[in-house]
Amino acid sequence: MISMEYIEGLILKKLDYKESSQIIYLYTTSGLTSVLVHGSRKPKSPYLNLTRIQNLVGLHVSGKDLRTLRDGDVLKDYRQTKEQLEKFTYVQHILELIYHVGTHDHDHEKLYLFLGKVFDLVDQSEDYIMYLNMVELKLLHLLGINPMFSHCVSCEKTEQLHFSVKEGGFCCKDHYPGGESKVSSACVTLMMDLYYYDLQNPKKVEQEVEVFKELRSVIDRYYEYHLNFRSKSRKMLAGLIGY
Ligand SMILES: [Zn+2]
Repeated sequence: MISMEYIEGLILKKLDYKESSQIIYLYTTSGLTSVLVHGSRKPKSPYLNLTRIQNLVGLHVSGKDLRTLRDGDVLKDYRQTKEQLEKFTYVQHILELIYHVGTHDHDHEKLYLFLGKVFDLVDQSEDYIMYLNMVELKLLHLLGINPMFSHCVSCEKTEQLHFSVKEGGFCCKDHYPGGESKVSSACVTLMMDLYYYDLQNPKKVEQEVEVFKELRSVIDRYYEYHLNFRSKSRKMLAGLIGY
Protein backbone atom coordinates (compact mmCIF):
# COMPACT_ATOMS: atom_id res chain seq x y z
CA MET A 1 0.00 0.00 0.00
CA ILE A 2 1.23 3.49 -0.85
CA SER A 3 1.02 5.94 2.00
CA MET A 4 -0.28 9.31 0.86
CA GLU A 5 0.28 12.73 2.28
CA TYR A 6 -1.64 15.95 1.67
CA ILE A 7 0.26 19.20 1.09
CA GLU A 8 -1.26 22.61 0.61
CA GLY A 9 0.94 25.38 -0.72
CA LEU A 10 1.78 28.20 -3.07
CA ILE A 11 3.86 27.34 -6.13
CA LEU A 12 6.97 29.51 -6.02
CA LYS A 13 9.10 27.95 -8.70
CA LYS A 14 9.42 24.98 -11.02
CA LEU A 15 12.31 23.19 -12.68
CA ASP A 16 12.31 20.83 -15.62
CA TYR A 17 13.19 17.29 -14.64
CA LYS A 18 14.18 14.58 -17.10
CA GLU A 19 12.33 14.49 -20.42
CA SER A 20 8.83 15.54 -19.58
CA SER A 21 8.55 16.02 -15.85
CA GLN A 22 8.95 18.93 -13.46
CA ILE A 23 9.81 19.58 -9.86
CA ILE A 24 7.66 22.23 -8.24
CA TYR A 25 8.69 24.18 -5.15
CA LEU A 26 5.85 25.02 -2.81
CA TYR A 27 5.65 27.34 0.11
CA THR A 28 3.61 25.83 2.95
CA THR A 29 2.89 26.55 6.62
CA SER A 30 6.06 24.67 7.48
CA GLY A 31 8.30 26.25 4.85
CA LEU A 32 9.63 25.17 1.51
CA THR A 33 8.95 21.73 0.03
CA SER A 34 9.32 20.14 -3.40
CA VAL A 35 7.18 17.70 -5.37
CA LEU A 36 7.94 15.75 -8.54
CA VAL A 37 5.21 15.91 -11.16
CA HIS A 38 5.50 13.18 -13.78
CA GLY A 39 4.74 14.12 -17.36
CA SER A 40 3.69 17.68 -16.60
CA ARG A 41 5.45 19.04 -19.69
CA LYS A 42 3.44 16.86 -22.04
CA PRO A 43 0.87 19.04 -23.83
CA LYS A 44 -2.04 16.93 -22.65
CA SER A 45 -0.89 16.56 -19.07
CA PRO A 46 -3.80 16.75 -16.62
CA TYR A 47 -1.40 18.50 -14.24
CA LEU A 48 -0.75 21.74 -16.17
CA ASN A 49 -2.60 23.87 -13.62
CA LEU A 50 -0.91 22.11 -10.74
CA THR A 51 2.48 23.36 -11.90
CA ARG A 52 1.61 26.99 -12.63
CA ILE A 53 3.56 29.63 -10.71
CA GLN A 54 1.59 31.38 -7.93
CA ASN A 55 -1.26 28.84 -7.95
CA LEU A 56 -2.38 27.76 -4.52
CA VAL A 57 -2.73 24.00 -4.70
CA GLY A 58 -3.72 21.05 -2.57
CA LEU A 59 -1.71 17.98 -3.50
CA HIS A 60 -1.85 14.31 -2.62
CA VAL A 61 1.70 13.02 -2.75
CA SER A 62 3.56 9.81 -2.00
CA GLY A 63 7.19 8.94 -1.42
CA LYS A 64 9.64 9.95 1.25
CA ASP A 65 12.80 11.50 -0.12
CA LEU A 66 11.34 12.76 -3.35
CA ARG A 67 7.64 13.27 -3.03
CA THR A 68 5.64 12.49 -6.16
CA LEU A 69 2.31 13.95 -7.14
CA ARG A 70 -0.57 11.48 -7.24
CA ASP A 71 -3.50 13.86 -7.53
CA GLY A 72 -4.39 17.41 -6.66
CA ASP A 73 -6.62 20.47 -6.96
CA VAL A 74 -6.06 24.14 -7.70
CA LEU A 75 -7.48 26.01 -4.72
CA LYS A 76 -6.80 29.49 -6.12
CA ASP A 77 -5.41 30.57 -9.45
CA TYR A 78 -5.32 34.40 -9.04
CA ARG A 79 -6.58 34.80 -12.56
CA GLN A 80 -6.75 38.59 -12.60
CA THR A 81 -3.14 38.83 -11.48
CA LYS A 82 -2.00 36.56 -14.29
CA GLU A 83 -3.87 38.63 -16.86
CA GLN A 84 -1.78 41.71 -16.08
CA LEU A 85 1.86 41.35 -17.01
CA GLU A 86 3.16 44.07 -14.66
CA LYS A 87 1.22 42.79 -11.71
CA PHE A 88 2.21 39.20 -12.35
CA THR A 89 5.88 40.14 -12.76
CA TYR A 90 5.74 42.08 -9.49
CA VAL A 91 4.21 39.02 -7.78
CA GLN A 92 6.91 36.81 -9.30
CA HIS A 93 9.52 39.06 -7.71
CA ILE A 94 7.87 38.40 -4.34
CA LEU A 95 7.73 34.64 -5.02
CA GLU A 96 11.45 34.62 -5.84
CA LEU A 97 12.10 36.43 -2.59
CA ILE A 98 10.02 33.96 -0.56
CA TYR A 99 11.90 31.10 -2.23
CA HIS A 100 15.24 32.76 -1.46
CA VAL A 101 14.44 32.91 2.27
CA GLY A 102 12.36 29.70 2.26
CA THR A 103 14.92 27.70 4.19
CA HIS A 104 15.59 30.41 6.76
CA ASP A 105 14.31 29.60 10.20
CA HIS A 106 11.40 32.01 10.56
CA ASP A 107 7.70 31.84 11.28
CA HIS A 108 6.54 30.17 8.06
CA GLU A 109 2.96 29.74 9.14
CA LYS A 110 2.61 33.45 9.82
CA LEU A 111 4.16 34.39 6.49
CA TYR A 112 2.13 31.81 4.57
CA LEU A 113 -1.17 33.06 5.99
CA PHE A 114 -0.16 36.67 5.40
CA LEU A 115 0.78 35.94 1.78
CA GLY A 116 -2.60 34.30 1.20
CA LYS A 117 -4.38 37.46 2.36
CA VAL A 118 -2.09 39.75 0.39
CA PHE A 119 -2.41 37.81 -2.87
CA ASP A 120 -6.23 37.99 -2.58
CA LEU A 121 -6.01 41.76 -2.18
CA VAL A 122 -3.48 42.11 -5.00
CA ASP A 123 -5.72 40.10 -7.30
CA GLN A 124 -8.69 42.36 -6.65
CA SER A 125 -6.97 45.71 -6.45
CA GLU A 126 -5.52 48.22 -8.89
CA ASP A 127 -3.37 49.77 -6.15
CA TYR A 128 -1.61 46.52 -5.46
CA ILE A 129 1.97 47.72 -5.10
CA MET A 130 1.51 48.82 -1.49
CA TYR A 131 0.52 45.27 -0.51
CA LEU A 132 3.59 43.76 -2.13
CA ASN A 133 5.86 46.37 -0.55
CA MET A 134 4.20 45.46 2.73
CA VAL A 135 5.29 41.83 2.30
CA GLU A 136 8.86 42.94 1.62
CA LEU A 137 8.95 45.23 4.65
CA LYS A 138 7.27 42.87 7.11
CA LEU A 139 9.51 40.05 5.92
CA LEU A 140 12.52 42.04 7.15
CA HIS A 141 11.04 41.73 10.62
CA LEU A 142 10.57 37.96 10.29
CA LEU A 143 14.16 37.64 9.11
CA GLY A 144 15.46 39.68 12.02
CA ILE A 145 16.88 42.46 9.87
CA ASN A 146 14.05 44.90 10.42
CA PRO A 147 14.73 48.61 10.15
CA MET A 148 15.02 50.45 13.46
CA PHE A 149 12.29 53.09 13.59
CA SER A 150 11.98 53.88 17.29
CA HIS A 151 15.31 55.68 17.80
CA CYS A 152 18.82 56.06 16.38
CA VAL A 153 20.44 52.68 15.64
CA SER A 154 23.50 53.65 17.69
CA CYS A 155 22.06 55.70 20.54
CA GLU A 156 18.75 56.56 22.17
CA LYS A 157 18.16 59.84 20.35
CA THR A 158 14.73 60.25 18.82
CA GLU A 159 15.13 63.66 17.21
CA GLN A 160 16.53 64.87 13.89
CA LEU A 161 16.78 61.34 12.56
CA HIS A 162 17.66 60.31 9.01
CA PHE A 163 17.08 56.89 7.53
CA SER A 164 20.15 54.91 6.51
CA VAL A 165 19.83 51.74 4.42
CA LYS A 166 23.28 50.50 5.43
CA GLU A 167 22.79 51.16 9.14
CA GLY A 168 19.34 49.57 8.94
CA GLY A 169 17.21 52.37 10.31
CA PHE A 170 17.16 55.82 11.78
CA CYS A 171 20.39 57.59 12.64
CA CYS A 172 20.82 60.79 14.59
CA LYS A 173 23.04 63.47 13.07
CA ASP A 174 26.07 62.20 15.06
CA HIS A 175 25.63 58.64 13.82
CA TYR A 176 24.38 59.18 10.26
CA PRO A 177 27.16 57.72 8.10
CA GLY A 178 26.61 59.75 4.94
CA GLY A 179 27.83 58.53 1.59
CA GLU A 180 24.48 57.07 0.63
CA SER A 181 21.48 58.63 -1.05
CA LYS A 182 19.17 60.44 1.34
CA VAL A 183 15.75 58.94 1.93
CA SER A 184 13.00 61.56 1.93
CA SER A 185 10.78 61.93 4.98
CA ALA A 186 7.69 61.15 2.84
CA CYS A 187 9.31 57.86 1.87
CA VAL A 188 10.18 57.03 5.48
CA THR A 189 6.57 57.77 6.50
CA LEU A 190 5.28 55.48 3.73
CA MET A 191 7.74 52.77 4.73
CA MET A 192 6.59 52.94 8.36
CA ASP A 193 2.90 52.99 7.36
CA LEU A 194 3.36 49.78 5.38
CA TYR A 195 5.72 48.13 7.88
CA TYR A 196 3.18 48.57 10.68
CA TYR A 197 0.08 48.14 8.49
CA ASP A 198 -2.60 45.92 9.99
CA LEU A 199 -4.65 44.07 7.37
CA GLN A 200 -7.43 43.57 9.96
CA ASN A 201 -7.78 47.34 10.29
CA PRO A 202 -7.34 48.59 6.73
CA LYS A 203 -6.70 52.28 6.28
CA LYS A 204 -6.02 54.41 3.27
CA VAL A 205 -2.41 54.83 2.28
CA GLU A 206 -2.18 57.78 -0.06
CA GLN A 207 1.13 58.77 -1.52
CA GLU A 208 2.44 60.21 -4.73
CA VAL A 209 3.74 57.75 -7.32
CA GLU A 210 7.18 59.35 -6.91
CA VAL A 211 7.28 58.34 -3.25
CA PHE A 212 6.39 54.76 -4.14
CA LYS A 213 9.20 54.81 -6.70
CA GLU A 214 11.61 56.01 -4.05
CA LEU A 215 10.41 53.31 -1.66
CA ARG A 216 11.00 50.70 -4.40
CA SER A 217 14.60 51.83 -4.62
CA VAL A 218 15.06 51.86 -0.82
CA ILE A 219 13.66 48.32 -0.49
CA ASP A 220 15.88 47.11 -3.35
CA ARG A 221 18.96 48.62 -1.71
CA TYR A 222 18.00 47.26 1.70
CA TYR A 223 17.67 43.71 0.40
CA GLU A 224 20.84 43.98 -1.63
CA TYR A 225 22.88 45.31 1.25
CA HIS A 226 21.53 43.15 4.10
CA LEU A 227 20.62 39.91 2.27
CA ASN A 228 22.61 40.18 -0.94
CA PHE A 229 19.37 39.55 -2.78
CA ARG A 230 18.17 40.81 -6.14
CA SER A 231 15.57 38.90 -8.14
CA LYS A 232 15.50 38.16 -11.85
CA SER A 233 11.89 39.34 -11.96
CA ARG A 234 12.93 42.69 -10.48
CA LYS A 235 15.04 43.26 -13.58
CA MET A 236 12.14 42.33 -15.86
CA LEU A 237 9.85 44.55 -13.83
CA ALA A 238 12.17 47.52 -14.30
CA GLY A 239 11.87 46.95 -18.05
CA LEU A 240 8.07 47.05 -17.76
CA ILE A 241 7.49 49.89 -15.31
CA GLY A 242 10.58 51.92 -16.08
CA TYR A 243 12.09 52.07 -12.57
ZN1 LIG B 1 22.76 58.35 17.44
